[in-house]
Amino acid sequence: MIISMKLHATREEIEEVTDQVKRFGYKVHSIEGEERVVIGVVGVGDVTACMESIEAMPQVEKVVRITAPYKFVSREFRKEKTRIRVNGTVIGGEEFVVMAGPCSVESEEQILKAAEGVAKAGAKLLRGGAFKPRTSPYDFQGMEVEGLKLLQKAKKATGLAIVTEVMSDRDVELVAEYADVLQIGARNMQNFVLLKALGKCGRPILLKRGLSSTIKELLMSAEYIVAHGNPDVMLCERGIRTFETETRNTCDIAAIPVLNQLTHLPVILDPSHATGKRSLVPAVSRAGVAIGADGLIVEVHPAPEKAFSDGAQSLDIPQFSKMMEELKPYVELWKESRPKAAVATS
Ligand code: PEP
Ligand code: MN
Repeated sequence: MIISMKLHATREEIEEVTDQVKRFGYKVHSIEGEERVVIGVVGVGDVTACMESIEAMPQVEKVVRITAPYKFVSREFRKEKTRIRVNGTVIGGEEFVVMAGPCSVESEEQILKAAEGVAKAGAKLLRGGAFKPRTSPYDFQGMEVEGLKLLQKAKKATGLAIVTEVMSDRDVELVAEYADVLQIGARNMQNFVLLKALGKCGRPILLKRGLSSTIKELLMSAEYIVAHGNPDVMLCERGIRTFETETRNTCDIAAIPVLNQLTHLPVILDPSHATGKRSLVPAVSRAGVAIGADGLIVEVHPAPEKAFSDGAQSLDIPQFSKMMEELKPYVELWKESRPKAAVATS
């Protein structure tokens, strides 16, 4: 942080400012110009509170923050991409990882069919919500614990790891018993009580970007989880809300290279929620591979027309298998460009 004092500020006024900065635990380095003093502030502390307090002082012209407000998740903190091992698969490493499955767990038959289909096509993780965040209270809310048990059965049958959503801090322990990766949905990205509870859950986290959240806010939410003790966080771009109505959300595809510059955390693209239309999922998935995502999370249902949620954006199993085949040459190129993509480019 750099503090620029007003022209001809007196020695006492400058001292008042440096004393205040030191009260927040920082060190100061003053640079005296002909007419103006500039104070450099270094150290660790509550930057926001310090900035607000200094900005309010009448002798201060301007306060500029020069480091990112997130620390542990930043590329400066760690140059190499974080690798997250899930059930023998490494996310953020040399493999492009696909997670797939239905929006919601609906029945044993449905989840087993989905699991077998996506495993055969090359997915490494099975997705499926047992706790569902729905816009309407009258819509299907998920099978809850029964759903978690069915996911466990599907894991046993196929060997796929499980990624499933947890909506409340009260359920973190329960969901962590059944899941390999805990998903935090877009609507909960800034549920800070929940984020803190994930710090000690012992499972990797898939943190989805909020519907109207900036990239910085997404990174701050990830920082919560890491700062509370869990370094294994993946970020997920799943489309944001804009004026556009042709797609369910607007896929912010550039968020992927932006995140790759700003953070070492793996980045996953969700082409299903980002578009809302199954016909768009293969093209947007290709874009995700080409632009340097670490993986995809795709909605796949054995009978999308019968799905309890998000049927319109779900691929059926043959469509998913075809997409996975078509992605292969892109994934080959992805592998070749991997060393460059994995290192900060900024
Ligand atoms: C989901 O993955 O089914 C889901 C509800 O996603 P999001 O939180 O991104 O809307
Ligand atoms: Mn869904």
